[in-house]
Amino acid sequence: MIKLFFNLLAARRRYRTEWVEDLPGDVRRETVYIIGGRQHPFYAAVVCPRRACRQVIHLDLSEEVQKRWRLNEHDDGSISLTPSVHVTAMRCGCHYWFREGRIRWVGTPRLAVPKENRCYAR
Ligand SMILES: [Zn+2]
Repeated sequence: MIKLFFNLLAARRRYRTEWVEDLPGDVRRETVYIIGGRQHPFYAAVVCPRRACRQVIHLDLSEEVQKRWRLNEHDDGSISLTPSVHVTAMRCGCHYWFREGRIRWVGTPRLAVPKENRCYAR
């Protein structure tokens, strides 16, 4: 029930895709950054979709890395990432799919975010 609620909220938000050479200093929410540009996508970075969490998650895309995510770009400019994103419980425990620029929660987002990762700003 809670998961459904989170998924309904998440479905309304569409992430912008930004192809950049370097990760900007002020990363925005609801934006997925692809670092390295189209020629050599190196890693993807996204602020945790949990509103209460301020972590920037880095996902390896480089073919040289064994544990990496596959990136799919769609006609409308949105992207999908495979496999799902699962942050360790120590950090915040979020587990979700990133599909066509939208978040799809796998597990219910944990209500408690570790203090050091908490975000108080909206
Ligand atoms: Zn988080």
